[in-house]
Amino acid sequence: MSRERRALVVGAGIGGLAAATALGGRGWSVDLVEIKQINTTVGVGLNHPANALRALRALGVLEEVVAKGYQYRGIRRYDQSGSLIAVFEPENPPDVPFQISMTRADLHDIMTAAAEKAGVRIRLGGSWRSFTELADGVRVVFTDGAVGTYDLVVAADGIRSAMRAHLFGGRYDPIETGYACWRMAVPRPPELTYSEYWNGAAAKATVIHLNRDLMYLLVVEQTEPGFRLDRGHMADRLRGRLAGFGGIIGRIRDSIDSSGDGLHGHIHWAPLQEVVLPAPWYRGRVVLIGDAAHAVTPHLAQGAGMAMEDALVLAAELDATRSVPDALAAFMARRLPRVRFVQDHAHAILLNEMESDSARKAAFAAGLGARQAEITRVLAAPA
Ligand SMILES: Cc1cc2nc3c(=O)[nH]c(=O)nc-3n(C[C@H](O)[C@H](O)[C@H](O)COP(=O)(O)OP(=O)(O)OC[C@H]3O[C@@H](n4cnc5c(N)ncnc54)[C@H](O)[C@@H]3O)c2cc1C
Repeated sequence: MSRERRALVVGAGIGGLAAATALGGRGWSVDLVEIKQINTTVGVGLNHPANALRALRALGVLEEVVAKGYQYRGIRRYDQSGSLIAVFEPENPPDVPFQISMTRADLHDIMTAAAEKAGVRIRLGGSWRSFTELADGVRVVFTDGAVGTYDLVVAADGIRSAMRAHLFGGRYDPIETGYACWRMAVPRPPELTYSEYWNGAAAKATVIHLNRDLMYLLVVEQTEPGFRLDRGHMADRLRGRLAGFGGIIGRIRDSIDSSGDGLHGHIHWAPLQEVVLPAPWYRGRVVLIGDAAHAVTPHLAQGAGMAMEDALVLAAELDATRSVPDALAAFMARRLPRVRFVQDHAHAILLNEMESDSARKAAFAAGLGARQAEITRVLAAPA
C-alpha cells in the first residue's frame, strides 16, 4: 500500500483554503500555516461569476455560498448624472447561477469549515522559516522551530508573497497599475435589485450586493504610481471623488462621515496591482497559486475564482498516481493560458476605464458586449 502523501499549504486565504480542502478531500494529509494570529479575512465583498461558482461546487460549498450571498438580477450602467446607459440581464447557465456576491467574511467562514471537515490542520500565527529540497520531498522549518517533511508545498500567500520573493527574487513584485480602489460596506436599500455601475469623470463607482442587508461600494480612481493615502485623508478624498454623482452613489457619498468609517466598518483604499509571474510557477516541489502567482485587477471579478481553480486543477493533477514533478508540469500547462486570458482582458478594461479619448472609449464600449460574451464562453469550459 502506498504511504499517505503530505502537503503544506502556506496562507489561509481563498486559494490556500481551497487547495487544503481539495487535497484533504483526496486523502492527502494537509498542514495549513497562516501568518495571522486570528483566522479572519480583510476586505469587504466578492463577486463569484459562474466559473467561480463551479469551483465552489467542486469544493462542496456552493449551497452555503448561495444561501449566504445574493444573486442580483443584472447590471445597470449610468453616467455620472444618472442617465441610464445600458441594462444587462444575463441568463443563468444550466448548472449554476450567473453570479453570486457575498461578504468576504462569510466566504472565509464557509471555506474554513470545509477545510476542517477535510481534515486539514490549520496553524495560526506562524509561517515557514526555511526549507530544504530532498530527493523525494521538502523539509520545512517553521517560525516556531517545528520541522515537517512534505511531498509538496503550496504557497498561497497572496499578492505580496514572501515565497515568490524567496523562489524568484524581487523581479516579479506587484506592478503598480496607476489606479486605486475604494471599498466600503453600506446598507442595501431593499428596492435595489440590480448591481449599478456609474461612470464618472474622476472615478468609476459600483455598488454590489453582499446579502439581503448589505452591499458594497467599489470606486476605482486614477492615481500616480506609488501614491499612498493615510486613513485620516480617506473620507475627504472619497467624498471628493464622488462629487457630482447622483442616485445611490450620491446618497452613499453624503452618508460618509469624516472619521473615515462607513456605517459598517472602515473605508478601505488600496492601489490596484498586478502580478505577472512567467511559467513555471514552481521550483522543485514548491508551487505558487492564486495572487502570489497572478494577481489580477478586479475588473472581471476573477481573482478568487482563478485561485480556487488553481487549487482544484492542482489537486486533480496530483490525484493520479503520477509523481509530484509530473503533476506540477501538467498543472502549469492547464493553468497558464486561462489565467493569462483573464489577466489580459482585465487589464484592457482597466486601461479603458479612464480613457480620455472619446472615440477610443466609444469603440471599446461598442465591443464590450462581444468581449464579455467571449470571456463567458472561454470560462464556461472546464478549468
Ligand atoms: C478591490 C478588490 C476587489 C476584488 N474583488 C474580487 C471579486 O469580486 N471577485 C474575485 O474573484 N476576486 C476579487 N478580488 C481578488 C481576490 O480578492 C484575490 O484574487 C484573492 O483573495 C486571492 O486569494 P489568495 O488566496 O491568492 O490570496 P489572499 O486571499 O490574499 O490570501 C493570502 C493569505 O496568506 C496569508 N499569508 C501571507 N503571507 C504569509 C506567510 N508568509 N505565511 C503564512 N501565511 C501568509 C495572508 O495572511 C492571507 O490569509 C478583488 C481584489 C481587490 C483588490
